[in-house]
Amino acid sequence: MRPTSSVSVAIVGAGYTSAALLTHLLDRRPDVAEKIAVFGKGSFGHGAAFGTLHPDFRLNVRAQIMQLRPAKPDLFPIWAEACLQDEGAYCEAGQFYRRADFARYMDYELSELPHNEDVNFIRQQVISVRYEHSLAKWHLRTDTGDEYTALMLILATGNPEPNWPCPIERACLQHDGHLLIKSPWTGSWLHDCDPEKTVLLVGGGLTAMDTVYALGKAGHRGNIHLVTPLGILPPAQTGWVPAEAIKWPDDISSASAFIGFMAGHLKQQPQCLWTDSEWQSRFEALRVHLNPVWRRLPAAEKRRLMVHLGGAWSLTRYRSAPQTSQMAAQMRSSGQLVLHTGRVNQISVGKRGKSFSAYLCSGQLLNTNIIVNCAGIGRDPLLAAMIADHVIQADAFGWGPQLADNLQLYSGDGHPYPSGYGIGAMTAGSEGDVVGATTIARQAASLAHHLTDSL
Ligand SMILES: Cc1cc2nc3c(=O)[nH]c(=O)nc-3n(C[C@H](O)[C@H](O)[C@H](O)COP(=O)(O)OP(=O)(O)OC[C@H]3O[C@@H](n4cnc5c(N)ncnc54)[C@H](O)[C@@H]3O)c2cc1C
Repeated sequence: MRPTSSVSVAIVGAGYTSAALLTHLLDRRPDVAEKIAVFGKGSFGHGAAFGTLHPDFRLNVRAQIMQLRPAKPDLFPIWAEACLQDEGAYCEAGQFYRRADFARYMDYELSELPHNEDVNFIRQQVISVRYEHSLAKWHLRTDTGDEYTALMLILATGNPEPNWPCPIERACLQHDGHLLIKSPWTGSWLHDCDPEKTVLLVGGGLTAMDTVYALGKAGHRGNIHLVTPLGILPPAQTGWVPAEAIKWPDDISSASAFIGFMAGHLKQQPQCLWTDSEWQSRFEALRVHLNPVWRRLPAAEKRRLMVHLGGAWSLTRYRSAPQTSQMAAQMRSSGQLVLHTGRVNQISVGKRGKSFSAYLCSGQLLNTNIIVNCAGIGRDPLLAAMIADHVIQADAFGWGPQLADNLQLYSGDGHPYPSGYGIGAMTAGSEGDVVGATTIARQAASLAHHLTDSL
């Protein structure tokens, strides 16, 4: 049996959230670097969003809104201006740089962190975690079979790898990764994409928009079918100006009250469309103090809210880079990009010389050569195991952990752990809209503040 190693602080996950937390911790307490172990593979700080080399995957917000240190909002735009040559980033609404370049910015910021060389990077996947109450220690096991104990656990496992949102006939799976793209975020599959082939995109959010843009830039000539539940694409970002944050009432306790307040605020100027900067400013002003409102909602009301508002919220919230929207509009008007309202129910071996047939819930059949999963639905295996083993309590959706004050994890019997935390994209079920880089950085700053004295 291998010996167990011990660390003081175990951060599980090596994506943007983990890097944002390390940044804020070391900004406050450079002396604690040697106590920290970060578990995870891939380039530190890049993760699912920025770990792409594809030149046509762009940030979906302008540079000013990518704030690793929200107290100093201009750091990325200044760095980008000095270090990048990217004419394609510029448009009326601002600069929308490549996601791969934001990863380079993260490399720069992390290289400047004091004592970063003392942090212990353990390039392993954590596959199980349990807590030993009598010793007040966390036990972690990794995919290499190594065992660790930690005095403090911080889960930052991020966006789980997407799964297909529908059943797939077994024989189709021989094309996995080549013609059947389950996990499109790196964009590596695009290099081998035959420009004459028909492509079907399952889902119509920002991943689909990225794909449309990248195919368009590569001169794709085949048809692109896009199936999305609401039958509309996200609007483009405008140059919206931050407006005064909206204060939500303290007594919102139901999905209908939430929707009523939000709709009332947005309808104050009924002539505005969601493609207008005025409308987008108003929407963003609503988001600033949203998290406490979401947290106060009972679990059943959170679920109801997702059923009634989830799709529309996602479309409104996740607006695309203007370059991307423009490409989609051009392709639609030329007839190359065709939108279908609905969901794909089943993917089977194709007919009429095509690789696949996709059946929609409406009964419509689409024959296609390539299918790309843009639905973004996944389940984190570590969190799922911790929830199933009653190590942590699930959020209202069973997606991730339910968190107490100060982002503390709840134990299976409902008590907050004194030394267990969750942070980042995986906390959205518990905390609300914690997805964008700046919101995550704010969360990281507040957790670093909370932890300062206990490290
Ligand atoms: C394709 C895409 C594009 C995006 N674009 C933008 C954008 O333009 N602007 C913006 O503000 N936001 C964007 N986002 C939002 C994005 O979620 C956040 O900005 C942020 O990057 C999330 O970081 P994270 O570290 O929480 O998650 P992730 O990026 O998913 O990173 C988590 C990391 O932890 C690792 N990990 C997971 N489980 C384990 C385990 N058990 N053991 C060890 N390691 C583990 C994973 O392998 C991964 O490397 C985008 C998201 C996606 C998916």
